[in-house]
Amino acid sequence: MTTTSAVSFDIERIRADFPILDQEVNGRKLVYFDNAATTQKPVAVIEALMNYYRGYNANIHRGIHTLAEKATADFEASRRAVRDFLNAPSAEEIIFTSGTTMGINLVAQTYGRHFLKAGDEIIISGLEHHSNIVPWQMLAGEKGLTVRAIPVLENGELDMETFDTMLSDRTKIVAVNHASNSLGTVNPVKEIIAKAHAVGAVVLVDGAQASSHLEIDVQDLDVDFYAFSAHKLYGPTGIGALYGKRALLEAMPPYMGGGEMIKEVTFEKTTFNDLPYKFEAGTPNIADVVALKTALEYINSIGKSTISAYENHLLTYATEQVSQIEGVRIIGQAKEKISVLSFVLESIHHQDIGIILDQQGIAVRTGHHCTQPVMDRFCILGTTRASFAFYNTIEEIDKLVAGLHRVKKLMA
Ligand code: PLP
Repeated sequence: MTTTSAVSFDIERIRADFPILDQEVNGRKLVYFDNAATTQKPVAVIEALMNYYRGYNANIHRGIHTLAEKATADFEASRRAVRDFLNAPSAEEIIFTSGTTMGINLVAQTYGRHFLKAGDEIIISGLEHHSNIVPWQMLAGEKGLTVRAIPVLENGELDMETFDTMLSDRTKIVAVNHASNSLGTVNPVKEIIAKAHAVGAVVLVDGAQASSHLEIDVQDLDVDFYAFSAHKLYGPTGIGALYGKRALLEAMPPYMGGGEMIKEVTFEKTTFNDLPYKFEAGTPNIADVVALKTALEYINSIGKSTISAYENHLLTYATEQVSQIEGVRIIGQAKEKISVLSFVLESIHHQDIGIILDQQGIAVRTGHHCTQPVMDRFCILGTTRASFAFYNTIEEIDKLVAGLHRVKKLMA
């Protein structure tokens, strides 16, 4: 058994669960460091999708035949798995969405549209992904609201002193990410939630990045809404979940109208279904919901604390090694980070870095990472971002470092 110095799991066995990793790209063994964009899928998840389509594809909830009952049972079992993953009080508070983006838009267009009025304020942060900026701006433009952003300090942490001064009785929603996709900063969401609640605001946490790295306990956080995407969690694309506190979800109008979300329809009047179906109009993404449960089971089989210990070990090593390269500036040096390393290399465009690394089989992401305000804050156009998952290795980080030396040589 191959163990690492940080944790005692068998990295070779884990890598064998991810068939995509065993290939060559441009004549070199693939090094996949684009995990913050999307993670790779273990065989168990791929098989869950195949088993569903080969064995019991059927529409859910309305069918009484055997296949429909099995599909419904697995779909609802996945909802309970998400409840457990987030430590939510009940499965009715878990809404399946297409991902984090839809979860945020759902809250903006139902809670926000229904409860906010002209003059109210929404506080986001300077570290947000565009998907936690634009939905609020769209709502604000329509309703005469103000969107304000918590500033970002030089080390990539939020300026919590300024946050304190921004809160007032005009603040109705605070929407922040749990961890930043472009810098890796883990935000003090528990403190943000408590402070927002003290002025009567509700809080949405964007868990797109945190959910694969950190333990999530929505009851301990006392968060009102928590959104995540399955594809960043070793699950399929096009599926995710939104947790919402029951009282809020019950008070909110539906998001989309259609089948499934109704109790009774006449041409005069429609009554809406109970939670969570009120928010799940139309035939859902059944296969991917079923496979999300498999992804969560896979993560649980390793354990979040083992995952974060190993990923921290990778991040610490990568940060040490990459910082030693002359001309490198690490963007984002928060005390608490998920395994994201963003950097610029003096006078070399990030796109050139990405292309030359790809020629060596190393996949990183370059650009603004859908966080243009973060780039503006640091007066840069973009970064090169290496983001690590538990199937990555120290040897792969050494290849990245060698790859960066090659970039420098070629671009000199
Ligand atoms: N929020 C953060 C912090 C992200 O990193 C991302 C995706 O990169 C999103 C939101 C949007 O996620 P999705 O595209 O899965 O809806």
